[in-house]
Amino acid sequence: MDVKIGADRATTAEIEAITGVLGPAIDGWHTGLRTDSDLHMGTGGQQLRDLRHQLLQVLHAVNDRAGWISPGAVNEISLRTDIAPAEVFAVASFYALFALKECGPRQVHVCVDAACRATGSTDEALPKGAHASPCLGACERAPVALVVEAGVAPRQALIENATPAKVQTVLDGAWPEAEAAPEAALPQPATERVLLRRVGTVNPTSLDSYRAHGGYLALRKAFELGPVGVIREVTDARLLGRGGAAFPTGRKWDAVARQPARPHHLVCNADESEPGTFKDRVVMEGDPFSLIESMTIAAFATGCERGWIYLRAEYPRALATLETALIEARQRGFLGENILQSGFNFDIEITRGAGAYICGEETAIFNSIEGFRGEPRNKPPFPVEKGLFDKPTVVNNVETLINVLPILNEGGQAYANLGTEGSTGQKLFCLSGAVANPGVYEVTYGMTLRELIELAGGVRGQAEGRSIKAVLLGGAAGSFVGPAQLDVALTLEGTRAIGATLGSGVVCVFDDTTDLVDQVRRIAAFFRNESCGQCVPCRVGTVRQQESLTRLAIGSRPDRTRGEELALLKDLGQVMRDASICGLGQTAHNAIDSAIKMGVFQ
Ligand code: SF4
Repeated sequence: MDVKIGADRATTAEIEAITGVLGPAIDGWHTGLRTDSDLHMGTGGQQLRDLRHQLLQVLHAVNDRAGWISPGAVNEISLRTDIAPAEVFAVASFYALFALKECGPRQVHVCVDAACRATGSTDEALPKGAHASPCLGACERAPVALVVEAGVAPRQALIENATPAKVQTVLDGAWPEAEAAPEAALPQPATERVLLRRVGTVNPTSLDSYRAHGGYLALRKAFELGPVGVIREVTDARLLGRGGAAFPTGRKWDAVARQPARPHHLVCNADESEPGTFKDRVVMEGDPFSLIESMTIAAFATGCERGWIYLRAEYPRALATLETALIEARQRGFLGENILQSGFNFDIEITRGAGAYICGEETAIFNSIEGFRGEPRNKPPFPVEKGLFDKPTVVNNVETLINVLPILNEGGQAYANLGTEGSTGQKLFCLSGAVANPGVYEVTYGMTLRELIELAGGVRGQAEGRSIKAVLLGGAAGSFVGPAQLDVALTLEGTRAIGATLGSGVVCVFDDTTDLVDQVRRIAAFFRNESCGQCVPCRVGTVRQQESLTRLAIGSRPDRTRGEELALLKDLGQVMRDASICGLGQTAHNAIDSAIKMGVFQ
């Protein structure tokens, strides 16, 4: 393609960053030295099309190196890939962590979402040079901030229990202290955990350590059972997806396994960007081989040869740990060709997200991995038929996948005997906000919300008279429940019965000092910012919803009564629910609706 580019040229550092991902130019038409052999026509079209799915990584490389993506870098990427500059820019501008204006090499992103807000964070008085950020997935250490530094050796780190003074110190040049170990997020002893039993016990980067603690027994069992047998066990276990939609995993796997089109793909959704969620991070940081083994089993059962971990960009330690674990698994024959002499071939690639909540939506992940804007696709066709690269695709999140290990080790029926009729097995809950001991708790389905909060030490400051005002259940896409609903069973059916949802397992507690109007307004701002803008009900609805909440909070329409404003807001919510393309728009009013029903805006 004859791409037209502007006059801006990339710097040497930007060119190095681009070449570091794409390799040298294939010919003189694509920034290489043009020779006689290039004649009058460009070649390598197919080769260039194959580069498209590397676009996100190229953008990361430039941003990591230069601290921003300049017009010259956009032009260079365009020349190297035959993707029009406008399209490169369109993709780069979709993601919050890519800068499109020159800025300093060090940026600090301060979380202002529910858990951090409940522990003192605010977007109103940030130190100069710091930006407000959505949830960073470290809510047990709230409030937190993420520092990102570009350069030859780019780096990222979390500022835990952040204060304005700590953030200022980092802005002034200091580097944050080392992060707490992943097991610090697990207040329960290892003996009370199943899915997380190895976290804190094994060396996360040692395959031998993993195997010494029961690792890879489930994969051997899978090879004995065969693909059909594995799917039967998962179906018998009645495992439901843990990401929020609760789709039966066995049915999904069976649907992909039956698809005649090849190849099949396996995508692990490790984007985990629902505010208040941080359980998958703990798994990836503390027990990465459990995810690799689970993915290998899922791929074996469904006939996938390639697996992808779509990892949120705010998890640098999970990235480093997973990369090391993948290398070791490959070297030792647990990934790659003929795994454990079974004749089965499978490997895993990591794609780093770049700060877009919507990329947790399964079809948005496909677009993001393929190098497009992370906009959801219309369904049908469903991913089991046409997913990544238009091929049959299994999408499961980290927690869903690691449940496969106890299912195979203990048997699907034994697993199904745990929990309740409609919610079997173990569930990870992320406790944050005003609880005494925030962290990830692993329980068998059936515990009540009150019991779970008690397990986490109860509301913080109980001795000083603090009490629970509300709990955000299921994250921003979930709902608020009040003190009268604390005896709800934390099962899919139990929460459904009170009009709530477990979502991704968020339990964010607010005490009686919390300004819930502020929390609700922040949720509305979150959805407004994170809407991909593709469909009108969500793009416009999330803006109008935020405006309406502002009017309810501070009042600016004397011609409209409070009742009329609430009625308008309800209508907006219904339109978003009914007419939005994807789950973001469909759930963007849930928490607000529940807060109104609780009387937050009385
Ligand atoms: Fe995008 Fe919102 Fe529409 Fe989903 S509902 S496709 S996030 S605009």
